[in-house]
Amino acid sequence: RELPGDSETHNHLRQVVGASWSAVTPTPVAAPELLAYSPEMAKLLDIDDAEMQSPEMLKALSGNGLLAGMQTYATCYGGHQFGHWAGQLGDGRAIFLGETVNKQGQRWELQLKGAGVTPYSRRADGRAVLRSSVREFLCSEAMHHLGIATTRALSLVKTGDQVVRDMFYDGNPKAELGAIVCRVAPSFTRFGHFELPASRGDHALLQQLIVFTIQRDFPDLVLPEPLLDESKTISEKCVVAWFTEICERTAKMIAKWMQVGFVHGVMNTDNMSILGLTIDYGPYGWVDNFDPGWTPNTTDAAGRRYCFGRQPEIARWNLERLADAIGVLLVDSKILESGLRHYDVVYNAEWTRVLAGKFGFNSWQENDGALINDIFGLMYQAEVDMTDFFRRLAVIDIDNPTPEALKNAFYREDLYNEFHPAFSAWLSSYVERLRQDARPNAERIASMHQFNPRYVLRNYLAQQAIDLAESGDNSMIIELLDVMRKPYDEQPGRERYSEKRPDWARHKAGCSS
Ligand code: AMP
Ligand code: MG
Ligand code: MG
Repeated sequence: RELPGDSETHNHLRQVVGASWSAVTPTPVAAPELLAYSPEMAKLLDIDDAEMQSPEMLKALSGNGLLAGMQTYATCYGGHQFGHWAGQLGDGRAIFLGETVNKQGQRWELQLKGAGVTPYSRRADGRAVLRSSVREFLCSEAMHHLGIATTRALSLVKTGDQVVRDMFYDGNPKAELGAIVCRVAPSFTRFGHFELPASRGDHALLQQLIVFTIQRDFPDLVLPEPLLDESKTISEKCVVAWFTEICERTAKMIAKWMQVGFVHGVMNTDNMSILGLTIDYGPYGWVDNFDPGWTPNTTDAAGRRYCFGRQPEIARWNLERLADAIGVLLVDSKILESGLRHYDVVYNAEWTRVLAGKFGFNSWQENDGALINDIFGLMYQAEVDMTDFFRRLAVIDIDNPTPEALKNAFYREDLYNEFHPAFSAWLSSYVERLRQDARPNAERIASMHQFNPRYVLRNYLAQQAIDLAESGDNSMIIELLDVMRKPYDEQPGRERYSEKRPDWARHKAGCSS
């Protein structure tokens, strides 16, 4: 239900009250071209290669036409951005194509990102550039193959239109190639969808959305009592059970980000999925040299609110904002604090499990914290590449461990020399700790390799693929998509994609999308 508007132009900018979505129409593009698609995702949607490459499909994936049954809309949400309430945001450049149920009975929502203005576009153009679209397309699929809950990407389409962006916020706008990614997820609902009606005092809409979400998106959640009583009031116990589940999923997702060195970069509450999926691949990045203070978001560089090491804390802050929102329906909103405490418990349990896995311990022990803090401190000071370090640590000679075996992970020769004695001493303590576990080497190495990816979508690799794509060559997009399918396996002949960041890429970052 929406307030009466201009039925001719669904897409005009407006505040949308009393509703969680608006009918919108994608804006057609000049000359769409399918650059890449995810075969796994197509298969999950029961789309075969011929269908995927058909003209009808290209129309649908570029916003130039609809397939039978598609219904397009954009949703209404708010959010806290960089710690401050921002009011209505909404799908400013994401347009839903509808949802589909596959042969296995799974329901998937499809969304075009960059398909033109919606009522929620505010001052922006509703478009996406090729650069950011390549990044979203590749990283969604890479994260999935790393075993991390995420929205997926079906396709990457070049629009043939130009989009103007001020890439480094230096006052020099530049025309770039436009593109559209078709994203796919069981649900794109965000924390901000609940925050907005709560902020407006629209309790009826808030309750309706919560009931809809629990019933549609959490079919496996065990509810302690009926969701609604005879007077159609929502059960507080059910709301707590649901919120606790969201806290748990979020904790598990964040622990995995920390495991692989993924930094989201813009963890505003409108970018937090109610299903605990990684969502909104904007200024994200991957940690190269280990640094908890590193953020890929150049607009956040001073505050470092969204840096690598603060992600667990910020996720909790975001859950607190969600609790504030859904709490308005409860007599005593304090009961949601049990969910937040559950977040702390699950995160800590997951994080120690991840650390034990990364370092190859049978299980986490009381004293392991000191040993691990020591090496993290050294890795930071000596500028050691996180991903490369762990793969090399796994295969260290435990009878004669020397820093030489880790040398490739160091970015700077002088720091390697300076910290050589410290790494040497640490390695002695480390192999001592491994001996306590008496675990067969081969078993330990195989297990460590399951926790420590060999291939991650390093920022410079994505950038190389983008530079080529901008000159008309898609081959590296296709190649990276394939490499990232098996991130934990050694892939002979593809060593180049596991190399640490080259010197020329050190200070490159761009954020506008
Ligand atoms: P983000 O920082 O990507 O989470 O975006 C914050 C808000 O800005 C969301 O409501 C987006 O839909 C909107 N937005 C971002 N980029 C654009 C764009 N190019 N056109 C319209 N809306 C946008
Ligand atoms: Mg967003
Ligand atoms: Mg974004």
